Amino acid sequence: MRGVVMYSAGDVRVEERPDPRIIEPTDAIIRLTATCVCGSDLWPYRGVEPADHQVMGHEYVGVVEEVGAEVKTVAPGDFVVGSFVISDNTCEICRAGFQSKCVHAEFVAQTIGTQAEKARIPYADGTLVKTPGEPDPAMIPDLLAASDVLGTGWFAAVAAQAGPGKTVAVVGDGAVGLMAILAAKQLGAERIIAMSRHPRRQELARHYGATDIVTERGDAGVAKIRELTGGLGAHSVVEAVGTQESFMQAVGATRGGGHLGYVGVNYDVQIPGIELFFAGIHTLGGPAPVRRFLPDLIALIWDRKIDPGKVFDLTLPLEAAAEGYRAMDERRATKVLLTL
Ligand SMILES: [Zn+2]
Repeated sequence: MRGVVMYSAGDVRVEERPDPRIIEPTDAIIRLTATCVCGSDLWPYRGVEPADHQVMGHEYVGVVEEVGAEVKTVAPGDFVVGSFVISDNTCEICRAGFQSKCVHAEFVAQTIGTQAEKARIPYADGTLVKTPGEPDPAMIPDLLAASDVLGTGWFAAVAAQAGPGKTVAVVGDGAVGLMAILAAKQLGAERIIAMSRHPRRQELARHYGATDIVTERGDAGVAKIRELTGGLGAHSVVEAVGTQESFMQAVGATRGGGHLGYVGVNYDVQIPGIELFFAGIHTLGGPAPVRRFLPDLIALIWDRKIDPGKVFDLTLPLEAAAEGYRAMDERRATKVLLTL
């Protein structure tokens, strides 16, 4: 099969990789319909994470081709959406709703690599969710978004306890930040403040439900959020970037007793204990348990209540993956969909 391999930072190639096969009785083999390039794929691309002939990709939708003897909930021919973390969905951690921390958790990005024609998905019953039928081709980007960015943005909004009567501030206007805005709106937030200085992303933010746009960053951004909230700060803040400035901006924008949901992968962030101490806020974050939300997200998409697929602003064939990485690295694209 064809698949993406990152030879080293900045060197993305599409080449022949071995066809996956069933190894464990709980595995499924899927033929991908679409995949995409994630903001987190830029970490190895830019040399922040090591890359040495690394298989790439962790977002996926496709059709089941084959299942192991113990797989019960999906069968050949089913169209499925999967999470970017493998989970059994039965252990104590999964049952508490934190499937990304499953005792059998495995990052699809590290070992499977779904920027490819096919993928072997371990713990298929606990990782994949089938759609009610074969989706309309126009719905594929929406379903693909559920595999990571929508699920992650949704988790961030839930972690920040977005809901009726709440003012939600979202730091970050990338795909995940935009999805957190969509989620906050669906969860019933009264006011949604998007922090963005990019005109096209501001437009999408408003489309997804943002009521206010703040262009200031850092301390000025915090001051603006305080000004918009009667000096209190937002009830709910989503951090969807992962830099020192964005994280401290998110902490500063959260009101005392408020909730911060953080999902930006924050390699070099140092949180001064004393600032967190005096902030007096709840925090919850990390890799999103997308599997918890998948059944509900698929239903919302199927009923055309949400349109998360609009975050994809560049579509390329898998063979042109290298150009997709370049476009995202140079910020010419928010998110790149790869067709098969
Ligand atoms: Zn588990």
